[in-house]
Amino acid sequence: MQNLKSFLCGSWQAGSDPQTDLHSATSGAVIAQTSSRGLDLGAALAYGRRVGGPAIRSLTFAQRADLLGKMSAVIVSHRDELLDISELNMGTTRGDGKFDVDGAAGTLAFYAKLGAGLGDRTWLADGDQIQFSRSKRFVGQHVLTPRRGIAIHINAFNFPAWNLCEKLACALLAGLPVLAKPGTATALVSLRLVQLWQAENILPDGVLQLLVGSAGDLLDHVGPQDCIVFTGSGSTGRQIKGHPQVLLYNVPVNVEADSLNASVLGPDVLPNSDVWTMFLSEVVREMTQKAGQKCTAIRRIIVPAERLDEVRAELVARLQDARIGDPGQQGTSVGPVAGPTQQRDVIAGLDALAQHAEIVWQAQGLPTQGCYAPPTLFVTTQGAAARYVHDHEVFGPAATLLPCSGQADEVIEIVARGGGSLAASVYSDDLPWAQAVVLGIAPYTGRVYWGSAKVFDQGCGHGAVMPALVHGGPGKAGGGEELGGERGLRWYWQRTAIQADTQLLRGLVG
Ligand code: NAP
Repeated sequence: MQNLKSFLCGSWQAGSDPQTDLHSATSGAVIAQTSSRGLDLGAALAYGRRVGGPAIRSLTFAQRADLLGKMSAVIVSHRDELLDISELNMGTTRGDGKFDVDGAAGTLAFYAKLGAGLGDRTWLADGDQIQFSRSKRFVGQHVLTPRRGIAIHINAFNFPAWNLCEKLACALLAGLPVLAKPGTATALVSLRLVQLWQAENILPDGVLQLLVGSAGDLLDHVGPQDCIVFTGSGSTGRQIKGHPQVLLYNVPVNVEADSLNASVLGPDVLPNSDVWTMFLSEVVREMTQKAGQKCTAIRRIIVPAERLDEVRAELVARLQDARIGDPGQQGTSVGPVAGPTQQRDVIAGLDALAQHAEIVWQAQGLPTQGCYAPPTLFVTTQGAAARYVHDHEVFGPAATLLPCSGQADEVIEIVARGGGSLAASVYSDDLPWAQAVVLGIAPYTGRVYWGSAKVFDQGCGHGAVMPALVHGGPGKAGGGEELGGERGLRWYWQRTAIQADTQLLRGLVG
C-alpha cells in the first residue's frame, strides 16, 4: 500500500491519520492512502511566495519556456508508465489515458513555443502608448507584470495530467510559483509527474509544490497577491469564491465548473451524409470517451423532430458496439468511472434523470466488481421546459436527446436553458441557419464547434480543448476562462496603466 506524500516547502511530507483511500477504479480495491492533516499549508504558501516567486520571476519568458519544454519532454519519455498509472487508478483505457497524458505534454509544448517567441523579457507591454489629452508629451501605457503571490491550482479528478499541466503552463510562463492540488481520488498521475520533474531537477526551488489530500485550511492563508484557479463542481467553486479570506483580499478566482454541453443537428443535414456521420460519431465519442467524465462532453443532443427516429436508431446501434469492461483488456472501449464516489454520483444522477426523461437505451451486463456505470441514452420531448435535463450534469456516460422544431430561435432557447456551458457543437452547411444558431448560442457558451461538409475529416472533435483557444464558459460553467494562447497568461498578471513622459515610457517599455 502506497502512502502518498505532499511536496511542500522543498520536502516530501506525510499528513497524519485518518487517511483517505485511493482506489483502483477497475477492481474497487484500495491501492493507496493519503492525508493532508497537520501539514502547514500557510508555511507552504509563504515558501512559494518567498522562494519560488523570485526564482521564476527572475527568468525571462524564453527561460521559463525552456522549463515547460523540459517538463513536456519528461511526460513524453515516461508516457507508458503514466498510462499504466492512469489505468490503475482511474480505470482509463489506453486511448482515454492518452487523451489526458498526451494533452498534458502537448499543452506544455504549445506554451513552450509561445514563450520562446516572447523572448528575453520578464513582463509585457499591453498595447501601444495612448494619448489621452492634447499633449503628446504626457501619455499612457498599459503594462502586464506577474503578481507577487502564489497561484493556487485546485484540480478536478478527471484529468490528473492535463488539468495539472494546462494550468501550470500558463502560471509558470507568466512568472508565478504554484501550489497544485489534484483531486484526491485520482492523484497518482499528478504525483508521479511532480516526482519525475523533480528527479530531473527541472524547476527552481519553491516554484512548484503539490498538495496530495484535502485542501484543509489552505484558503485561510491566501493573500492579496495570490490567485486561485479551480476546476471542479459548481458547488465547490462557490465555496471557494465565498471563502472569507478570498473575499477579504478580493483574491481572483477562476472557476471551470459543471457544464451541460449541447450538440445541435441542423435541419439541412441528410441521413448518411458526411455531416450526419460526423455528428453521430461525435455524440457517441463524447458519451463513451473517458466514460463520459469530460467537462466538455455532450450532455444534450438537439435534433429536428423529423429526424429523431433515425438519429435514435443510429446512436443505439453505435452504442451497442461499445465494449464495456476491464480497460486493460484489448478491445475495451469504455472503462469504469474514476472511483467509488464517482460511481455512486453517476448512478444517482442516472436514476434522477430517469425521473424526468425516458431511457432509450442502457448498457447491460456490466462487470459486477469495480466502479462501472452504464452508458445510457435518454430522450425527452419537453424541449426547453424539460426539468433536470438542463439543470444537473450527470458526470458519466449519459446524454439526452431533445427533439425540437429545428428553428434557430427554439434551438437557441434550448441551449440557453443549460445556464451557460463550456462547449457546444453545431452541424450544418446551411449558412443563414448556422449563422443564426452559432452567434445566437455564443453568449451562452465558451466554445462552439461547427461541423460541416468541408471539414468532416479534419476537425479535432467537440470535446478536445486546444491550448490556442479559450477554455471556459459563462454562468453554470463557472464564468472562467483558461488557455487561449497568451490570453491564458493574463490571468496571472496585474495590468497597470502608467502615465508618464513619452520618451521615458518608451525607455521603460524598450
Ligand atoms: P469537486 O468535488 O468540486 O472537487 C474539485 C477539487 O476541489 C478537488 O481537488 C477537491 O479536493 C477540491 N475541493 C473540494 N472541496 C473543496 C473546498 N472546500 N476547498 C477547496 N478545494 C476543495 O469536483 P470533482 O468531483 O473533482 O469534479 C467533478 C466536477 O468537476 C464535475 O461537476 C465537472 O463538471 C467539473 N469539471 C469541470 C471541468 C471544467 O474544465 N470546467 C473539468 C473537469 C471537471 P478533493 O478531491 O480532495 O475533495
